[in-house]
Amino acid sequence: MKKMTMTTKILVWMVSGLVVGSLINAFANDSEVVQTYLVGGLFHVAGAIFISMLKMLVVPLVTFSLICGVCGLGDVNKLGRVGLKSFLLFMLTTALAISLAIGLSSLIGPGKDFEMAESTTQSFTAPEAPPLTQVIIDLVPSNPIAAYAEGNMLQIIFFTILFAVCILMIGERGKPIAEGAERLNEVMMQVVNVVMNIAPYGVFALMAKTFSLQGLGLIVPMISYFGVVALVLLLHATGTLMVLLKLLGRVNPLIFLKKMRATQVFAFSTSSSNATIPVTLRSTEKRLGVDNSTASFVVPFGATINMDGTAIMQGVATVFIANVYGIELGLGGYLTVIGMAVLASIGTAGVPGVGLIMLAMVFNQVGLPIEGIALIMGVDRLLDMMRTAVNVTGDAAVTTIVARSENSIDMTTYNDPDAGIVEEVHLPHGEQTAKG
Ligand code: ASP
Repeated sequence: MKKMTMTTKILVWMVSGLVVGSLINAFANDSEVVQTYLVGGLFHVAGAIFISMLKMLVVPLVTFSLICGVCGLGDVNKLGRVGLKSFLLFMLTTALAISLAIGLSSLIGPGKDFEMAESTTQSFTAPEAPPLTQVIIDLVPSNPIAAYAEGNMLQIIFFTILFAVCILMIGERGKPIAEGAERLNEVMMQVVNVVMNIAPYGVFALMAKTFSLQGLGLIVPMISYFGVVALVLLLHATGTLMVLLKLLGRVNPLIFLKKMRATQVFAFSTSSSNATIPVTLRSTEKRLGVDNSTASFVVPFGATINMDGTAIMQGVATVFIANVYGIELGLGGYLTVIGMAVLASIGTAGVPGVGLIMLAMVFNQVGLPIEGIALIMGVDRLLDMMRTAVNVTGDAAVTTIVARSENSIDMTTYNDPDAGIVEEVHLPHGEQTAKG
């Protein structure tokens, strides 16, 4: 019998977690033993450890990988070009995503016959978003150690690129440092492999916990909103991004989709583009064949500023709330929403719970009631999982397109279905270590 690949294994455990969680929600909601020992005990602990393990990889992996990337590039002009191209493409995909969301939801009209009485009683206070000037100032870390300690991705990228460029500037004497970073990067990639091997159980715990707390029943009153967001997410991931990959990247989009499956599952179960960076980096480099010099920069940059799925949620939420409150936004209003959402995605980089802060900014601008956000909060946890999977797909698609335009993708690897497949790891034995 053919052995199950790691991705299939992760998928199977993910679905099992979903089923177990939903069953607990339906039948064991009042069982103190199940709630205390399973949901609040085993699932909570195993899930939290798994997320921490992923997050633990992000800062060292991005740092070593970026040093390798810049030193491997050897050309600072190319770095600027890759930066500009990826920035413009991130803006383009976000604008397309939200336009599709607004267009389709205007057609379908979710929320037109929504009964307010069905709504949740939750209230919503919008968290403060920092002003754009502060975001720009904050790109430069006043203390790199603090930036690393806090995992501030844009500051880490800024400092690491500067550091790596200076390694190049000191010439021969910098070589050992670049080589050291290369080895450290290799070690970190191996740590990613090890973590991927335990991922099935971590993913199971996360799914079981989420679904035992969030029964699927809560979607029912919100089905029109939920359904439209899900539909647009699907269309963007399997339509818009694939067309861009075909037209701008001149690659086979089906291969891309297939190879992104593991990354999407990680994003789905962790709901965090940031925690998924190690897996996105691994997939783009080892599975799709993108050169480290491009992936090491575009992937973490995208995880921070590019959020297509989040923009889609905002587009649909705007139309939905406008319909519920009977407010006519008009073409001008919708264009403002598109512009705001694109700007907000840059402005709120690195802020946790970013989706809802951005939505509050958008609502403020077009005069929709911020309290409306309370209505959609109930289903936001589930939608967050789905949109994060789309966010990372967008990051990887842009990385592939930029790599193709820079000729820094190995098409043999891209087209090889087995390239970079996750293997089971084996701990080294005594003789091996003795041999060195
Ligand atoms: N959870 C999303 C991400 O990490 C962001 C959001 O929509 O809140 O990509």
